[in-house]
Amino acid sequence: MTNKYIYFIANWKMFGNLKSLNLLNKVINFSTKNNNNKIKLIYCPPNTLICPLSKKLQKTSIKVGAQNCHESENFGAFTGNVNSQMLKDVGAQYIILGHSENRRSGETDKQINLKIKSAIKADLKVIFCIGETLKERKNKKTHKILSNQIRTGLDGVKKKISIILAYEPVWAIGTGLIPKIDDLEKSILFIKDRCKNRSLKVVYGGSVNSKNIDMLKKIKTIDGFLIGGASQDSKKFIDIIKKTFN
Ligand code: PEP
Repeated sequence: MTNKYIYFIANWKMFGNLKSLNLLNKVINFSTKNNNNKIKLIYCPPNTLICPLSKKLQKTSIKVGAQNCHESENFGAFTGNVNSQMLKDVGAQYIILGHSENRRSGETDKQINLKIKSAIKADLKVIFCIGETLKERKNKKTHKILSNQIRTGLDGVKKKISIILAYEPVWAIGTGLIPKIDDLEKSILFIKDRCKNRSLKVVYGGSVNSKNIDMLKKIKTIDGFLIGGASQDSKKFIDIIKKTFN
């Protein structure tokens, strides 16, 4: 791991209701006791919980993020959607964009690029997800795919804008599988090299848990983790954070 601060980004996906916010009390206590500037905690709940969660976390150092937005930066006739300024308005400070679960439903690199630009305009910090499928990996196309996703996704985004890039191999999300440490190290170096003039942090996401964190934390270039399944259980989430620093 890098010797600066480490991000722990919780992606709750489409899980959680008002009652589940009580589960965060443990994490709030943990964060208050361990407020040592080494840990950056960001919770990305479903849109329905952004406002109550940001109120709950007001006096803590834990930040709140959204999980997606519509690509239009303006209001409009897009039933069922919200844009980045609406998310900012209810308390989001960060936003996950380009998640493979949305790419799988047809979201394109071009749309992701528009979303990223609209989020920056709305003063949200972007967590930009990229990653290859298993087929692309088997066909040795990983670097080409990552390169294309970065090029189109960040097209027109000023280099000085800080971006958190989440490397999430599609085949590792929710499967219990993680890349070999050597491969992961190479991919992170590749991403950092590809973005070398940018203000960039790179986090890893895909089946991070309290068992594999001992291995993952050995990667020197990693700036943190995006955690799905394990972030829904506060004890497991805290365990991952504790083990990262042990
Ligand atoms: C994710 O959805 O971004 C993710 C990393 O999920 P999981 O940790 O469950 O693989």
